[in-house]
Amino acid sequence: THSSKRSYKITLLPGDGIGPEVISVAKDVLVLAASFEGIKFEFREMLLGGAALDATGVPLPDETLAVSKESDAVLLGAIGGYKWDKNEKRLKPETGLLQIREGLKVFANLRPATVFPQLVDASTLKREVAEGVDLMVVRELTGGIYFGKPRGFGTNENGEETGFNTEIYAKHEIDRITRVAFEIARKRRGKLCSVDKSNVLEASMFWRRRVQEISAEYPDIELSHMYVDNAAMQLVRYPKQFDTIVTNNIFGDILSDEASMITGSIGMLPSASLGDSGPGLFEPIHGSAPDIAGQDKANPCATVLSAAMLLRYGLGEDKAADRIENAVLDTLNKGFRTGDIHSAGTKLVGCKQLGEEIMKSVDSQA
Ligand code: ATP
Ligand code: MG
Repeated sequence: THSSKRSYKITLLPGDGIGPEVISVAKDVLVLAASFEGIKFEFREMLLGGAALDATGVPLPDETLAVSKESDAVLLGAIGGYKWDKNEKRLKPETGLLQIREGLKVFANLRPATVFPQLVDASTLKREVAEGVDLMVVRELTGGIYFGKPRGFGTNENGEETGFNTEIYAKHEIDRITRVAFEIARKRRGKLCSVDKSNVLEASMFWRRRVQEISAEYPDIELSHMYVDNAAMQLVRYPKQFDTIVTNNIFGDILSDEASMITGSIGMLPSASLGDSGPGLFEPIHGSAPDIAGQDKANPCATVLSAAMLLRYGLGEDKAADRIENAVLDTLNKGFRTGDIHSAGTKLVGCKQLGEEIMKSVDSQA
């Protein structure tokens, strides 16, 4: 397994806006937490997004992809900003993000939605509904209707204009995302809910059949199925019923955003994108927040928690991951907050200081 290795190559892609600020904090926390487990890192910092465009003329330089591919995991900050908004499509910072996901062949997107006990009031839901929510959406990322062919514009039999797309999943695409989701459910609370629209769509009927068949390999996991319309409703009605959710690309796109809004804390939410072999890509769900960039106001927690996911799902270093997650909780317990999660009675601090407080909590654990 990964855990026998103990020395890892990490590629850092700070990107734009608040990216460099939050990556700097996450790197320090990662190094400190891992040192308690005897883990060493070799870091390479590379250009991506607007920063890469300005320096090299392309949003994903070849060298960035090459170095990323050779590493054990990639930690990304955020990309984009007003400055490049007028650029043509091919030269947008965001193109770099799509290209690196494609280049690393990451097909599983993991998006936890956690309501932190200290931040329940940030939730869009009533306290009693929000309290204790801790779920993970596993979204298929490289197939389905966003990529299916045929696609395009045409005309129907009446000569009227049309637009069309195709929802298509091959067996191996469903099987591999399903296995990733079962493995994650096993690391969590042992429950997996597969979301589809198998009452209407053949692609979903096939999806459900494959998930059912693969479930035989995971007798310890409690599997359920839900139609996507019901899942969207249940997520706001009673989100605590969910542990791990697995779903296709388009449903996952929508449900993972819905789930993150339940928490109300965009600055607290990490994500991971995993492939079969090769490095995973770990990044906060928030954007580059150009409105607060360079002001030491950013909340580094989403990126720090992405570093914890890197340890857990990228390197199999669960103990170091636990240490980071506990430190974030401990820091919130002590009342330290950046502006985005600040409320009466808590201590307002900047990005750097919050990072230092998290490091103190990493240090003080047994
Ligand atoms: P993108 O299209 O890249 O997702 P966006 O404009 O949709 O970007 P964000 O860049 O995430 O979204 O910013 C949305 C709002 O949330 C902004 O007001 C921003 O300042 C705030 N925000 C985002 N991330 C953080 C953070 N880590 N700490 C504090 N505030 C944040
Ligand atoms: Mg956005």
